[in-house]
Amino acid sequence: MDQQDLGTDIEKVLVAEAQIKHRLTELAADIDRDYAGEDLLIVGVLKGAVMVMADLARALHSPVRMDWMAVSSYGSGTKSSGVVRILKDLDTDLKDQHVLIVEDIIDSGLTLSWLLANLKSRGAASVEICTMLRKPEAAKVEIDVRYVGFEVPNEFVVGYGLDYAEKYRNVPFVATLAPHVYS
Ligand code: 5GP
Ligand code: MG
Repeated sequence: MDQQDLGTDIEKVLVAEAQIKHRLTELAADIDRDYAGEDLLIVGVLKGAVMVMADLARALHSPVRMDWMAVSSYGSGTKSSGVVRILKDLDTDLKDQHVLIVEDIIDSGLTLSWLLANLKSRGAASVEICTMLRKPEAAKVEIDVRYVGFEVPNEFVVGYGLDYAEKYRNVPFVATLAPHVYS
């Protein structure tokens, strides 16, 4: 899929497909180096992290285990409340495991902050975070994010796993949508 397939839906491309690919190679090299000689479990947060999990995992040079969680933030509206419900839990026992949470985007950071505490409480040897995108709001929360793909402005973005009303997840770049899409 490319921009032409989407007609007038796209307002602005913020991160191009080639930029994502290149940045993933760099992040994978950092991760390979940091976990050299260790077994690593990467945990993707459904559904947004599907693309980054698939591409990051294939860019790594060491075999990793992959597991998935689905969580939902309590409350209505577009802002997360920080109170999280597990919709699908991991199949893996985290005791003494090195865990890397893989996320699509960090906005308020509330979801991730909860997830981090939850996974740490299961006795993991370490829990770190890798996110493809980070918004400026995230700077306000005290979470240490070791791997960040790109900083994006405080706008609603879609593509590369991120949806609007469950659509646009399969757009291979990160973009903002034209106003007519929302009306
Ligand atoms: P927070 O960091 O605020 O707890 O929530 C992060 C989650 O909100 C992300 O995993 C994602 O599902 C959603 N989110 C935050 N910003 C955006 C955005 O710009 N576009 C889309 N599609 N989802 C977003
Ligand atoms: Mg997410």
